[in-house]
Amino acid sequence: MVSFAEFHQRSIDPATRDAFWTEQARWVDWAQAPQQICDYSNPPFARWFADGRLNLCHNAVDRHLADRAEQAALIAVSTETETEKTYSYRELHTEVQRMAAVLQSFGVEKGDRVQIYMPMVAEAVFAMLACARLGAIHSVVFGGFAAVSLASRIEDAQPKVIVSADAGSRGGRVVPYKPLLDEALGLSAHKPQAVLLVNRGLAKMDLRAGRDHLWGDLRARYMDAQVPCTWVQSTDPSYILYTSGTTGKPKGVQRDTGGYTVALAASMPHIFGTQPGQTFFCTSDIGWVVGHSYIVYGPLIAGMATILYEGLPIRPDAGVWWSLVEKYRVTHMFSAPTAVRVLKKHDAAFLRQYDLSSLQALWLAGEPLDEPTAQWISEALQVPIIDNYWQTETGWPILTLCNGVQPQVSRFGSPGKAVYGYNVQLLDDKTGEELTEPDHKGVLAIEGPLPPGCMQTVWGDDARFVKTYWQSIPGKLVYSTFDWGIRDADGYYFILGRTDDVINVAGHRLGTREIEESIAAHPDIAEVAVVGVADNLKGQVAMAFAVVRDAGKVADAAAQARMEAEVMKLVDSQLGAVARPSRVVFVSALPKTRSGKLLRRALQAVAERRDPGDLTTMEDPTALAQVKQLLDA
Ligand code: AMP
Repeated sequence: MVSFAEFHQRSIDPATRDAFWTEQARWVDWAQAPQQICDYSNPPFARWFADGRLNLCHNAVDRHLADRAEQAALIAVSTETETEKTYSYRELHTEVQRMAAVLQSFGVEKGDRVQIYMPMVAEAVFAMLACARLGAIHSVVFGGFAAVSLASRIEDAQPKVIVSADAGSRGGRVVPYKPLLDEALGLSAHKPQAVLLVNRGLAKMDLRAGRDHLWGDLRARYMDAQVPCTWVQSTDPSYILYTSGTTGKPKGVQRDTGGYTVALAASMPHIFGTQPGQTFFCTSDIGWVVGHSYIVYGPLIAGMATILYEGLPIRPDAGVWWSLVEKYRVTHMFSAPTAVRVLKKHDAAFLRQYDLSSLQALWLAGEPLDEPTAQWISEALQVPIIDNYWQTETGWPILTLCNGVQPQVSRFGSPGKAVYGYNVQLLDDKTGEELTEPDHKGVLAIEGPLPPGCMQTVWGDDARFVKTYWQSIPGKLVYSTFDWGIRDADGYYFILGRTDDVINVAGHRLGTREIEESIAAHPDIAEVAVVGVADNLKGQVAMAFAVVRDAGKVADAAAQARMEAEVMKLVDSQLGAVARPSRVVFVSALPKTRSGKLLRRALQAVAERRDPGDLTTMEDPTALAQVKQLLDA
């Protein structure tokens, strides 16, 4: 067996890199196998497998028909609607073709965008795969986002068609989607040609004649549709997924087709150690990158069954996930620390009543994994708990333990070592110098080329891609993750938080600027600052500090509570409840430097009851003192 260190070295060394990735490309079916492996002639833009031709849907569905047509492919479980349906690869193939035919009837073809704003239902997966089949570019928008978030994504991606549904459901409460979509379409300057709606019978829908169509009606017309896969160039985009940054405008992370398919296909054996025919259960949402890679594409490319779960982890009770592990003989499970912290509030007996002997390991990602959480779930499950660190931008793990290459010991608090393909470095943020000695804190950066599967660019904005990600470290063209990290003497990394104003609430990444812009839209708010504050359950929560135009409007506790509720409602309606601040504190001034720069770090420190550090540049020390006093009250 080759050691992981050698495996990793081969994957990044320019002398061996092409040979390494040629081998990995064999996990994938190509219409035309690539001869060009890594073209990095125009850094930082990497073109992987550039002359190869393939189709992502073929790799996820069609190629399994020969060997496993009757095997389970997609298991859609909803504890919200109490439904459970298993689609074999043959059935999935049929449904995807029906969906592809419907999209084609609206004129969707290669390169067109299709926005998918859907709850966790099988049709959302059909729509993603149907786009991939046609070479169309999907852009899934998380169902928890509201009208303004959705509208900005529609304007940016300019979809020809939007696929949506009447409603989602959360904790037994129906969450209508159609009114939000209509509102977003009212706000957006771009209008799609058609809206395709899945009617789940949960909420009434007003249909706009000529624009809105029901999936149920159209599906019936295309029952026997046969839509061949459109072969695309490896570098043709497969999808756009928006993510938050430090500006209010979300970035469209654009992914290619060939690099992504290879990266996912190779990650299944090397990182997860999977076999075709096994069952993968990833509890994320299709609106997030983890859902794209490890609910939909990764497990299907690997010929596994994948569970799509709509519902809470504790409803009807805290045993529901484990009942699915038993029922479907789940071998690989993937979740987030927040979900485990939710489960941890309940008795571990909920887990133990089920036969979990099929389960090989649990992977956790999206936010730091704290020791009590790791310990609790490890004792309860008695399987390895494997932390892994990555970003929407990369599409698959940057740091973890590649136990499929060589089993490795995990180290508490560390997501592991640099994954093959990633030339990870720690850099001094001021000088750009590489920190080669162990235990030095630096910015976690990746030397180009980024490996296959990572973002190609920001959709429609190459300059933003270069400026945002590659020019933040002085004197170096290197990709910044915007996370602080350290590395120990054995190559294990530890993540120490973000270097920018992005916060992480329950594994969901949010930009504080987006929330600030939303709150600032309230006519009574003059100024606002939002910071992330440590939280036992969600990792971080957003806390807002606002200055009102007329102090009389927040004169007493009752008025403040009213204003706070109004602000929260505004954020809910614009961005969605995920972005709602946990608290809105009304202050008379925000702490700023003499040059007028907001002292976010100081605000955050005070909110977390920490020492705010050096405040010599502060304009008015009473501002921070007031924040402290209000929080202590
Ligand atoms: P997202 O793009 O939404 O997946 O968010 C990516 C960010 O989440 C990273 O830049 C980190 O700040 C954080 N993150 C993801 N996974 C981990 C992990 N395993 N440990 C610590 N932080 C993580």
